[in-house]
Amino acid sequence: MRKMRRKGLASMAVQTVASTSTPTVDLGPAAALSCRECGHRVSLGPVFACEECFGPLEIAYDFSAYDTEELRARIEAGPANIWRYAPLLPVPAGVADKPNINPGWTKLVKADNLARELGVTGGLFVKDDSGNPTHSFKDRVVAQALEAARAFGFTTLSCSSTGNLAGAVGAAAARAGFRSCVFIPHDLEQGKIVMAAVYGGELVGIEGNYDDVNRFCSELIGDPAGEGWGFVNVNLRPYYAEGSKTLAYEICEQLGWRLPDQIVIPIASGSQLTKIDKGLKELIELGLVEDRPYKIFGAQAEGCSPVSAAFKAGHDVVRPQKPDTIAKSLAIGNPADGPYVLDIARRTGGAVEDVTDEEVVDAIRLLARTEGIFAETAGGVTVGVTRKLVKAGVLDPTKTTVVLNTGDGLKTLDAVAGTGLTATIRPTLDSFREAGLA
Ligand SMILES: *Cc1c(COP(=O)(O)O)cnc(C)c1O
Ligand SMILES: [Zn+2]
Repeated sequence: MRKMRRKGLASMAVQTVASTSTPTVDLGPAAALSCRECGHRVSLGPVFACEECFGPLEIAYDFSAYDTEELRARIEAGPANIWRYAPLLPVPAGVADKPNINPGWTKLVKADNLARELGVTGGLFVKDDSGNPTHSFKDRVVAQALEAARAFGFTTLSCSSTGNLAGAVGAAAARAGFRSCVFIPHDLEQGKIVMAAVYGGELVGIEGNYDDVNRFCSELIGDPAGEGWGFVNVNLRPYYAEGSKTLAYEICEQLGWRLPDQIVIPIASGSQLTKIDKGLKELIELGLVEDRPYKIFGAQAEGCSPVSAAFKAGHDVVRPQKPDTIAKSLAIGNPADGPYVLDIARRTGGAVEDVTDEEVVDAIRLLARTEGIFAETAGGVTVGVTRKLVKAGVLDPTKTTVVLNTGDGLKTLDAVAGTGLTATIRPTLDSFREAGLA
């Protein structure tokens, strides 16, 4: 089934190439696209599936010219956004000067209060990506895909989205002067719909779940109607995906160029988790951090936990699920990078775990109450999974641990419905006292 799907995608990828003149592109240290399965290489272009085995393509680099200390100094002197890592990304020189949403360099919050509640003594940090321009981690990947779209001459930006990506694409397209037309499941949270529509691009609700939306986009990309379109998470996926590496770079740089011992990452398609692992490995190879082990933990909601289920069952294949959870940004029932996530969790000695919707809401409240961070449901998933794994003795409380919050609670207000006024009083001191608040 997996093979079949890949085959379909690959033939569309070939069509895309055929219908687009192959421009010469200079994407800095990015040397080629390389197949994750068989290693087959092709030149940089808007393709995403291997013509030999239909495996996913990813960017291969030539970093051989870099001197470690020169590179470190260059990064530290760079802008306070993802482009400080331009030497490690598929972008041309001078990218920081072009119109882009310039996300990144979000806060790494030392979460001592939360650590106390969870019994973590080795240092607990929240990487708070709600601080990005459209309030989710998706700005990182879209900023990257936008540069690829520019390099390949696309004029329309598009995507299939569980909500946050739609907003990030809308904003990036507006800033950079692209047309945008994005596709979402029609029944997303109101906050996500408004956040995606307000930038003025076209927003299309599809009657179906994310996996249906994704399938539709794969069809559109092979059709004349989709010609000249850059789908950030389909034909631009290899470039898009690299944006997640910047989370790994930032976490290590913000820890003083040190690797954390443990990282807890949410899983939708699994792309972010696999690229954070790639980013950490690159830093080790480049000598920017010391070479020592780290553990990667994946987090899902129980109502959409195909990777967690496979991990627990000891399977290498991920069986698709029909999502039913309040964590809609993570509701991908057939995650493209699922098998790679399993590899990484097992290879690093980590794990994949899931929590119920109730635990997600509890964890949103816990993070808000202890650290003043209002996370969206995806942040409730990672904090909830962290709590569960510490209790189970799977996460080591004596080690440095980083938990990702990838989105903003203002977009998923329904999750904490019922949170509100302590009391309503007349504007008098008597009334204040009567309410028992004095
Ligand atoms: C998209 C998304 C993720 C993870 O996405 P992947 O598909 O696994 O890369 C995590 N958190 C939020 C809030 C998201 O919108
Ligand atoms: Zn291949």
